[in-house]
Amino acid sequence: MRKPKIVILGAGYGGLMTATRLQKQIGVNEADIILVNKNDYHYETTWLHEASAGTLHHDRVRYDIREVIDTHKVEFVQASVEEIKTEENTVILDNGEISYDYLVIALGAEAETFGIKGLKEHAFTIVNVNAARQIREHIEYQFATYNTEKEKKDERLSIVVGGAGFTGIEFLGELANRIPELCKEYDVDYHKVKLICVEAAPTVLPGFDPELVNYAVSYLEKKGVEFRIGTAIKEGIPGGIIVAKGEEEVEEIKAETVVWAAGVRGNSVIENSGLEAMRGRVKVAHDLRVPGKDNVFIVGDCSLVINEEINRPYPPTAQIAMQQGEVCARNLAALVRGKTELETFEFHNKGTVCSLGEDEAIGTAFGKKVIGGKAALLKKVIDNRSLFMIGGPSLVFKKGKFNIF
Ligand code: FAD
Repeated sequence: MRKPKIVILGAGYGGLMTATRLQKQIGVNEADIILVNKNDYHYETTWLHEASAGTLHHDRVRYDIREVIDTHKVEFVQASVEEIKTEENTVILDNGEISYDYLVIALGAEAETFGIKGLKEHAFTIVNVNAARQIREHIEYQFATYNTEKEKKDERLSIVVGGAGFTGIEFLGELANRIPELCKEYDVDYHKVKLICVEAAPTVLPGFDPELVNYAVSYLEKKGVEFRIGTAIKEGIPGGIIVAKGEEEVEEIKAETVVWAAGVRGNSVIENSGLEAMRGRVKVAHDLRVPGKDNVFIVGDCSLVINEEINRPYPPTAQIAMQQGEVCARNLAALVRGKTELETFEFHNKGTVCSLGEDEAIGTAFGKKVIGGKAALLKKVIDNRSLFMIGGPSLVFKKGKFNIF
């Protein structure tokens, strides 16, 4: 009898978790497993703000996919997914096509600029290793160039971060630590540097406990961050942005570096493939399958799961992507073995920790608030745990964060 073919698209948290769990749960005679990813490496998306600020080398945030998959059981294909033809059980790649019996879509997120003019052209986004490397190099270039010019352009030393959500705040925390180093390295007066966070919402870190938010804001302000809250970015322009507070107070902020960190959407492959989605995220059934398509699962940022308690979608996180990967693997193993009853996905929120640089953080864990050094320590434990879940102790030894005491 022909073995079923399981194709997993994307080797991020959701896809790699599915693949590494599945390889333990089913035998080589039960199914062929194929993992497709754009690069031959996995990157820790949750560490990209560090690589972008230059506080962690980009090679520390990535590792070879073949290090964590069992290549006797999982075939790795390096390719970029262009389109999924669910009617034909086929995936179109940039270098060919691949058919499947069961499909897992785990292609992650893309930046969402909500149609704000000029942002795509003039702002950076923290979306992958290449983008992170480009942001780091761009900032460094501005500092390196500043003292070489006859007419010094102070906007070279201005960095605007759009969005005071999780990613924006974590990036600002890293930048606040990196700036003094850059000033020293390039003989730049620290007082000339501007680090501005522009946020349209009335608060920083919406959804976080107010005590934690106050701690984060005052800590970052002490480190030189200027917050412009209730201020919307209206346009990205060469060398800066146009912002507005209310309808009237329109202002231009000159900055050679603008990083947009205020929104994500599911991968555009989802919509290009005609799947019904909200901002590239498909509302999946309880067993993580696409409604009406019994052989297609979606995990991670391309999926949308409703938090029944508040009747709103869970925010896309690595935590949920990994938990989905575990359930998806078990459901695939069940289907391969001819079972029809599948497990319902339930999210177990273990808490959230937002770093404010290397040694500071805020968050909640198991319902309790954590602040400062303790929270920073917990963040590193969380980072190491995610390595452990996918690659076991050897990956933690290779890539883990041990500067914790
Ligand atoms: P990803 O892990 O992003 O993986 C997607 C994979 O698909 C990548 O390997 C990519 O290369 C590949 N891919 C994309 N397009 C294609 C294509 N066309 N063809 C082939 N391969 C493709 N979440 C938390 O829970 N905690 C945090 O502290 C946290 N911090 C964050 C900090 C930052 C700076 C950012 C940006 C995000 C953070 N998140 C955090 C969110 C978290 O990173 C995402 O929710 C998570 O990565 C989603 O997992 P995923 O498997 O859906 O996608």
